[in-house]
Amino acid sequence: MEKYYGRRLVKKELPDQFLTQLEKMPSMIERGTKIQCQRCGALLDKALVKLPDHSFYCPACIVMGRVKSSESLYYYPELPKQAISASVLNWQGQLTAPQSVISKALVSSTSDILVHAVTGAGKTEMIYQRLAKGLMAGEHICLTSPRVDVCIEIYQRLTRDFKVPIRLLYAHGDEYEHSNLVVCTVNQLMRFYQSFDLIIVDEVDAFPLVNNPNLMWAIDKAKKSGAQTIYLTATPTVTLKTKVASGELEALVLAKRFHGFPLVLPKFKWCSNILGLIQKGSLPRKIHKCISKQRLTRFPLLIFMPEIKLGKQLRQILQGAFPSETIGFIASESENRKAISQRFKSGEYTILIATTVLERGVTFSKIDCLVIASHHRIFTTESLVQIAGRVGRDKRRPTGQLIFFHQGRTRAMKQMYREIQQMNREV
Ligand SMILES: [Zn+2]
Repeated sequence: MEKYYGRRLVKKELPDQFLTQLEKMPSMIERGTKIQCQRCGALLDKALVKLPDHSFYCPACIVMGRVKSSESLYYYPELPKQAISASVLNWQGQLTAPQSVISKALVSSTSDILVHAVTGAGKTEMIYQRLAKGLMAGEHICLTSPRVDVCIEIYQRLTRDFKVPIRLLYAHGDEYEHSNLVVCTVNQLMRFYQSFDLIIVDEVDAFPLVNNPNLMWAIDKAKKSGAQTIYLTATPTVTLKTKVASGELEALVLAKRFHGFPLVLPKFKWCSNILGLIQKGSLPRKIHKCISKQRLTRFPLLIFMPEIKLGKQLRQILQGAFPSETIGFIASESENRKAISQRFKSGEYTILIATTVLERGVTFSKIDCLVIASHHRIFTTESLVQIAGRVGRDKRRPTGQLIFFHQGRTRAMKQMYREIQQMNREV
């Protein structure tokens, strides 16, 4: 039964012989003309989700197997807490003074907290003491992020830095076995019910969590009542800022990068008909000149593009214009994302073209960075702050070139500039 503690699942996910031992609860609740899925919280129009047998189903979370109103959800209570006396932490590193202030605050607080730490501040190390304290007290703890790449990266660090067994759950990951420390995508949280004493949400503002009430609902259901939530981000959303302003959420701010150097501010360069030219297979002269100059430095070059198709096109153009460079391309659809970013890290690729899939959760050393068509609507303030945060992360080169080519400064561009300036002033 180990794998069912604290879980809430649909019938198909369970062996028949266990069904009688589990608690049942309705999978959907009718609310007038609407019906609400109890796994993901989606409020649905009955007329649109009716099945031929007159029951209803939820299309919102169907990728995880169908929830149907005529079938219950099954729940098995979480194990009671059991404290351990052995040490759980392998990590021997040292926190910087500002990191240490946040770390201590996290250890002593039991309320919900937003940690607003700039990109490259070293967020993960700051939660270690809190994790260690919780694990020793027998807490059931989950680290979750909307992005699977971020989850995998966190999992790898935690398995290195902690001595306890850790489970990693995502759509095509391992099967669950009970463990006090779980790393999972936010979707996987929907399979837990009143299970966790602490949920830490990393990159809370990332797609698909941003502005998605269903996923926030899942976080809420997966927690025990009175459990704590800690949100970690470099770019808090308006919703989170409002919660801080109303006192619902405590805020801790870390404006300093771990190496103590300020965040890099972008240079905005106007360039006409950028995407039109790239579409036709040619490179705007300004961009060509900029890349030629940058390549003389031999620092790795990361280029952000707004669309997959244009990114692929740019790769072809650049390969023709700069035949001695090895150029990679990465997007959400790339199957071997990990391997591609590894090739860029190791220097095998000298230039990497990316969509916003690479805007967060990855650290490259000593890179320069261009954003092409930064006025494009896909580049939100949060996204641009994250992109800017890729530069200057290595203390051996805490600066770097950061250039945004655009056709008109958008609100997002101006806002990101102001936000970075403000964080640099707080240092
Ligand atoms: Zn649902």
